[in-house]
Amino acid sequence: MAGKGNIIQRIKGVKDILPPDVSVWQWVEDSARETFESFCYSEIRIPIFEKTGVFSKAIGETSDIVEKEMYTFTDRGGESLTLRPEGTASVVRAYVENQMYNPPSAKKLYYMGPMFRAERPQAGRYRQFHQIGAELFGPEDPGADAEMIHLMMSIFENLGVEDLTLKINSLGCPECRPVYREKLAGYLDSRREELCDNCARRVDRNPLRVLDCKSHACGQIAEEAPTMTDSLCGECKTHFDRTRALLAAVGVEGKVEPRLVRGLDYYSRTAFEVASGALGAQDAVAGGGRYNSLVEQFNGPSTTAIGFAIGLERLISLVEDKGGVLAPELFFIPLCAEAEEKAFLLARNLRNDGYLVDMSYGGSLKSQLKKANRASANVAVIIGEEELAKSIALVKEMKTGEQSTVPLDELTQWLDKHFMGEE
Ligand code: AMP
Repeated sequence: MAGKGNIIQRIKGVKDILPPDVSVWQWVEDSARETFESFCYSEIRIPIFEKTGVFSKAIGETSDIVEKEMYTFTDRGGESLTLRPEGTASVVRAYVENQMYNPPSAKKLYYMGPMFRAERPQAGRYRQFHQIGAELFGPEDPGADAEMIHLMMSIFENLGVEDLTLKINSLGCPECRPVYREKLAGYLDSRREELCDNCARRVDRNPLRVLDCKSHACGQIAEEAPTMTDSLCGECKTHFDRTRALLAAVGVEGKVEPRLVRGLDYYSRTAFEVASGALGAQDAVAGGGRYNSLVEQFNGPSTTAIGFAIGLERLISLVEDKGGVLAPELFFIPLCAEAEEKAFLLARNLRNDGYLVDMSYGGSLKSQLKKANRASANVAVIIGEEELAKSIALVKEMKTGEQSTVPLDELTQWLDKHFMGEE
């Protein structure tokens, strides 16, 4: 046997998702799909990697992701490519490239899949992680913002995840944001000495980012900073108020958080985040916002948009009901070669009828019943030479040990009656 030292190990910060955990993932993904569809969103599947420019252009050269977290490499043709660190940039690229703005109507898209960021791994923070996200292109109406946030909260609700805090803010528009930026930069400049080194540099380049710095000193300075909410222009204020009123109409309460700026540069107006006290240090489970200029930045027609992304690993750690472990309903135990052929045929028919069917390959009856037990099967269907000669099977309920003799040509009806309650 190979010593542990010789075993090739996975890269730090990535995970294998093994059965039975995978069934929880599938359950969560299926539930999210149903929720998306109930809001009339269609799935889009975007590539895992893109030209590096897709992300640096969209996410912003000064964001943490682009500055230090992207997995970028030069491919054999000498082109710079990047493993996607998030979904929005690729969805916008695909929207423009495939002219999804034709015919002009709201486009509602969702995606699921892995993202890659070279962050320092810790609990709840991985280098390959998964997101479920949505984007809505077209309407700028506050109804779109409220729908997007309601959709996101419905995904949590339908999975029974509770005790979440929805934080919401408005980042203003090209009219009022630069005015606020100036005001904020002036304030931060007056306290530059007290800021962490990173933020002292950000004051001129990207002062808004100082507001979500995790350092204690910067946090205190941000606490006393002028807020965007107080600097919104009339239109942005009306938009923000209406978004919140529509959310209130469906019972979604957001906490206005003036310091919420989100890490990415492309947002305008509505920005939001969902946090859970049950998650520890990495408490954000979802985030999103409105991005009104990104489609144009990709040389598409002026189109406003809004989206969110939920972190799947963190969502799954919050799901109480971990879903069902996949256990066979029926476990065939054939005891001779001919019985095995018969069992193959019966199993095929029963699978087509919707049963979960597993089968044992060889061994004594005792050892095969043990396997059925270990697999948590409901029922063992035993067919030996004697049974085959009489065209019957022994059907054993694993929990009670109760055994019935059932003619093979009546097996399906018998199982339907006993397990599906059908006559
Ligand atoms: P972001 O795109 O940074 O707004 O992230 C959206 C969500 O993805 C976050 O709220 C997290 O739940 C999740 N997420 C982001 N980065 C990571 C990571 N490195 N590991 C695990 N989950 C992450």
